[in-house]
Amino acid sequence: MLTFKEIRQLEPQIGAANLPVLKRARGRPRTNPDVRFFSHVRVDENRCWLWQGEVDWKGLPVLWDGYKHVRAYRYSFSRFVGDIPAGLDVLRKCHNKLCVNPVHLATGIHDKLARARQQLAKTYCPQGHPYDEANTYRYINANGNPARNCRACMRERERQKQIK
Ligand SMILES: [Zn+2]
Ligand SMILES: [Zn+2]
Repeated sequence: MLTFKEIRQLEPQIGAANLPVLKRARGRPRTNPDVRFFSHVRVDENRCWLWQGEVDWKGLPVLWDGYKHVRAYRYSFSRFVGDIPAGLDVLRKCHNKLCVNPVHLATGIHDKLARARQQLAKTYCPQGHPYDEANTYRYINANGNPARNCRACMRERERQKQIK
């Protein structure tokens, strides 16, 4: 495992034949997964490590580790950042499907996104007001995600405040 600083220092060397991280791999380059991994990476201007290798049917990076196919971004995370806790997914903070930069990866639950989407798909607020164009107040919440409020409920809260 490497620190984020070590990973950044490694970046400009990607593509060079004598990548220091691969030194220990000498003599067995064909079976060493790190050698395979870096031979498929190209760093773009956003510092995304774009996967040039195989992808699965969803278009997600796949790496042959010498024994089996593994997800290249999961490999990257567990190799350079840390263990992936059971039940957690490796998510791409940069939203780039092909990115395997360990710095751009984080563990989390995909369901969270699904739940947020579900929440936005609801057509009525908990009080039963419609989430239509006129009644929906849209904003970006503190986490930087799109969110909304019911205008009728907002008005009601204002009114309650004034009564007090
Ligand atoms: Zn990225
Ligand atoms: Zn409401």
